[in-house]
Amino acid sequence: MSSAGRILVVGLGPGPAAWLTPEASGALEVATDVIGYFPYVERIAAREGQVRHASDNRVELDRARHALELAKAGRVVAVVSGGDPGVFAMAAALFEAVDHGDEADRAVDIAVLPGVSAMQAAAARLGAPLGHDFCAISLSDNLKPWEVIARRLTAAAQGDFVIAFYNPASRARPDTIHAAFKLLRELKAPDTPVAFARAVGRADERIVLSTLGAADPSICDMSTLVLVGSSETRFISRPNGLSPWIYTPRHYGAGR
Ligand code: SAH
Repeated sequence: MSSAGRILVVGLGPGPAAWLTPEASGALEVATDVIGYFPYVERIAAREGQVRHASDNRVELDRARHALELAKAGRVVAVVSGGDPGVFAMAAALFEAVDHGDEADRAVDIAVLPGVSAMQAAAARLGAPLGHDFCAISLSDNLKPWEVIARRLTAAAQGDFVIAFYNPASRARPDTIHAAFKLLRELKAPDTPVAFARAVGRADERIVLSTLGAADPSICDMSTLVLVGSSETRFISRPNGLSPWIYTPRHYGAGR
């Protein structure tokens, strides 16, 4: 095994180059190999001599094993994810492969390079909805049964957290977000601010503001991040047709 091999787990941010960290872009320059879900790999400029291994969405563990094998053979492998690689993404898949691997896997030099996550990008567009306690929930029920999602949603509502939903819908499972809203409507006030932030930072960005009572979650797709406020989260209306801000005050109870 060559000692020069290593894995850089790189977060590409939500889309635009301005939201790619200098550290991440440096990693993409030194990598001999890039591994990832194909839309992420396609976002990276092709470099001479760099080998690109683009794969489908459902093969995270295969991708992780492949990265380990390449690193053990002396390659410098960038494993890429959108947003932050540790948030519902490849870093956990890689460590799962290491955990179930052999001693040589544990010796591999791995560095996880953080990125701007979708909830941060969405929050920045909206104002400051994550200004007080919040949680993030993925609605991908490929990876988790509905009972677990329902239990966590109930706890999040009871705990009065702002909730950021990742993976709210896909063609394979359009109904989960409807079930989630139905559950939250039983536990939270109908005037709770809700935002659907789609493709934030990209050319097809679309932000839709609503309330829990009025929102239609069928506008969600795979590129949407959904934010549901706490009891403290509020809109600030603005003049001249400007879109309102959404924020959650720093002090709990300050707005009452
Ligand atoms: N690691 C990523 C999340 C991967 S899960 C991160 O930290 O952002 C994929 C989900 O992220 C999508 O279904 C969507 O909910 C969200 N997402 C990713 N990019 C986004 C963007 N530009 N705008 C809104 N949501 C986005």
